[in-house]
Amino acid sequence: MKQSPQLQAAQARMAPGALTMDGFLGTDPRDLAEILEDDEGAVRRLGLAHEALAADLHRLTERAIGGFGAPVAEGPFELCACEAMGVLPCPFGEPGLHPKAVIEARRTDTGERLSWTALQVHLIRAHGFYEGRGSPFRLEPPVLARFLGLHPPPQ
Ligand SMILES: [Zn+2]
Repeated sequence: MKQSPQLQAAQARMAPGALTMDGFLGTDPRDLAEILEDDEGAVRRLGLAHEALAADLHRLTERAIGGFGAPVAEGPFELCACEAMGVLPCPFGEPGLHPKAVIEARRTDTGERLSWTALQVHLIRAHGFYEGRGSPFRLEPPVLARFLGLHPPPQ
């Protein structure tokens, strides 16, 4: 996939200090088009779609935010919405603002932990974007799928 001017502009908004202090790309040397293409392949190899990952993440995010900073239980998950203050725009540049919440989650059955931001639910659903490698909130699709307990539909 060739990087379009729109993706080039989005990539600039993902730099550290543009929209967020840490930015969205970490230490990833790939351009945005390549990151999107690689993760698209990774999700397809899992037999999943971005929407399926985003739907579960959205449900857990809403539950966590409903706890107003106190831990909440949801199935095998213990969730907490921290730093839930303010809003920020999507780096892909369309209008609208997203709540600036960090969700901390732990599976009580495996002890595994994962953190994500409320904006990432939108980034995955609308853009198939999981952040760059080395970014503090990068979600590796196979790690996320395992954490959520998502398995591909039977063939
Ligand atoms: Zn967006």
